[in-house]
Amino acid sequence: MTPAQNHRLRRVAVLSVHTSPLAQPGTGDAGGMNVYVLQSAIELARRGVEVEIFTRATSSADAPVVEAAPGVLVRNVVAGPFEGLDKHDLPTQLCAFTAGVLREEAHHEPGHYDLIHSHYWLSGQVGWLARDRWGVPLVHTAHTLAAVKNASLAEGDTPEPAARQIGEQQVVAEADRLITNTADEASQLVDIYGAARDRIDVVAPGADLTRYRPGDRAAARAELGVDPHELVVTFVGRIQPLKAPDVLLKAAAELHEREPGMPLRVLVVGGPSGTGLERPDSLIELAAELGISARVTFLPPQQPDRLVQVYRASDVVAVPSYSESFGLVALEAQASGTPVVAADVGGLGVAVSGGHSGLLVTGHDARDWADSLRTILVDDDLRAKLARNAPVHAANFSWEHTADGLLDSYRRAVAGYRRNPELAPRRGGRGMWKLRRLGGVRA
Ligand code: UDP
Repeated sequence: MTPAQNHRLRRVAVLSVHTSPLAQPGTGDAGGMNVYVLQSAIELARRGVEVEIFTRATSSADAPVVEAAPGVLVRNVVAGPFEGLDKHDLPTQLCAFTAGVLREEAHHEPGHYDLIHSHYWLSGQVGWLARDRWGVPLVHTAHTLAAVKNASLAEGDTPEPAARQIGEQQVVAEADRLITNTADEASQLVDIYGAARDRIDVVAPGADLTRYRPGDRAAARAELGVDPHELVVTFVGRIQPLKAPDVLLKAAAELHEREPGMPLRVLVVGGPSGTGLERPDSLIELAAELGISARVTFLPPQQPDRLVQVYRASDVVAVPSYSESFGLVALEAQASGTPVVAADVGGLGVAVSGGHSGLLVTGHDARDWADSLRTILVDDDLRAKLARNAPVHAANFSWEHTADGLLDSYRRAVAGYRRNPELAPRRGGRGMWKLRRLGGVRA
């Protein structure tokens, strides 16, 4: 696709209020959405569509604008304190953030952005106003939905506040198009949030298949200091109740009890997040309580070049989440040649081909998880077969595919866009605007 064919889509404003695409994923608020926003922007830019990503500045060291990749700018908008602002307090800064976005646009000629793509409901609230102001379509991706998350909470996890669901509902009603990761998520938007099905496009996320590909297991283990003879089960992600790393530890303890001779190693990669932040050491304490501390290794969040070695070093990657809109870790692990045992929830049923590239487990009973892990760990032939199939399945998902899907959705949004007739036309039109900015006309 050449820039000329994208003539109506020269530049997209991407809104990612609550996490920066430049933050290290796998800890705090940063995870799959950050990876999605950055990787899809890079691919859009490769297709000739410039992307400017607006995010909230979280450090005084953040430059106002950073070129993340050719054609991809990250604009760090100052809205509220740099540090210490809880995610739940972010709605208090939406006005400040919106002002920052609108002021940036005001520095340019009208029509600077052809479309707005908002990620997560907080950004959708900002995009809704910017869309009306700029007269361009708003495309929204929710990533997670409060109603869905609350329907499958981990024990003791804090439900999402009702205000979030109201906010999501408003964005669903206002957005010109909605993008979901899976067909199931599209149905949830229709059934629970009242979205019109013909405004929804299903676009699967991807994995960086040039980075995440099968490699030398022995070399990966040597690099990470993992024993070549151990059977390695790995968890990668933000450590929070929703991601259920405790289920994996309990399953490992169960397995250890059943088969004390099994050379089991559990790798836990990631940092605390959400309610996990209140007790960051809770997982270490749980491993001790279960009597498996010596079998568990905790690693801090890893950069992609190390993470691929983690996946390659593992015999199985476990994704026991209670709720997951897709599960990039499952894709990346399979792309790296490692089978996945995943909870049969949300997008994981799409990300993993059950019985072919991994196993899908119903529920979160540690005994069931121990059964599924054991099935793969004790059967070398099965493990090898799943490992062969895993990258083949993962090859169906790439950021290139995602960008193609996003562009289709964007084009539909532009083609179907009608400025809300209740809104007054933008004052003065293009010529007047220029004059005002030159000081020739009083605004
Ligand atoms: N991740 C990472 N380093 C880590 C742990 C995770 O870069 O140490 C990345 C991982 O590669 C994946 C993302 O964080 O792309 C997590 O995405 P996923 O969809 O699995 O979970 P989410 O965070 O969105 O709930």
